[in-house]
Amino acid sequence: MNCHEAMPLLPAYSDGELDPVQSAAIEQHVFGCADCTVRRDELASLRSRIRSEVPYYTAPPALHARVKAALARATDAPPPERPARDRWRWLTAGALAGSAATIFAWFVGSAVLDWQVGTDLVAETVANHARATLGNRLTDVASSDRHTVKPWLSSRLDYSPPVMDFSADGLPLAGGRLDYLDGHPVATLVYRYREHTIDVFVRPATGGKPAPSPATATLRGFNVAHATGTGMEWWGVSDVSADVLQSLVARLARGPE
Ligand SMILES: [Zn+2]
Repeated sequence: MNCHEAMPLLPAYSDGELDPVQSAAIEQHVFGCADCTVRRDELASLRSRIRSEVPYYTAPPALHARVKAALARATDAPPPERPARDRWRWLTAGALAGSAATIFAWFVGSAVLDWQVGTDLVAETVANHARATLGNRLTDVASSDRHTVKPWLSSRLDYSPPVMDFSADGLPLAGGRLDYLDGHPVATLVYRYREHTIDVFVRPATGGKPAPSPATATLRGFNVAHATGTGMEWWGVSDVSADVLQSLVARLARGPE
């Protein structure tokens, strides 16, 4: 096992969700790998923070009954299985949201309703951004040079994402990271705008007309902008204002001028 294989499995490993063979392979790799040791320790401390800082509630009887009924239905028609690491991500996102009701919803969601939530790419991009911010892992490759970031990402994906820098407009490239969207590895470009961090997820567009004017959404205080162009699909997520995010995503989707 190498880092490329071990890293995506570390969250599931931390949650004890891997089978004994996979766990042993991870342990063997982590034992000899400084990077993965750091990542494993980060996940362990994040996990203990969630356990100690997130309030825990007992479900009221009515909700209990609804969850049981939903589970029974799910057993009749099992939902497509999502990777275990996603559950960790939802949990993390819930911890960030800060409101007890939201957290409770996330817990229920992770246990029962995840196949519905999982289809929501907006929620997934926000959860990714939140997890990267909370886990302090915004960039795997920290560089403002697109000639460094692009090959780093290309060598780890089966596509080559366009990478642009907008330092001249106050939106410098901070680096890139490998994340997951919809169950697939996705290129993530990280930009800075003043004190804000902007994540842009880039993946090949799956047909349809290019739509370089971004559609936007707001979820739990984060703005999300989505556009397609230059053969790619672009998802921007940040706590930066919607107009800044929209113009960045629109420029990326238009391609180099
Ligand atoms: Zn490693």
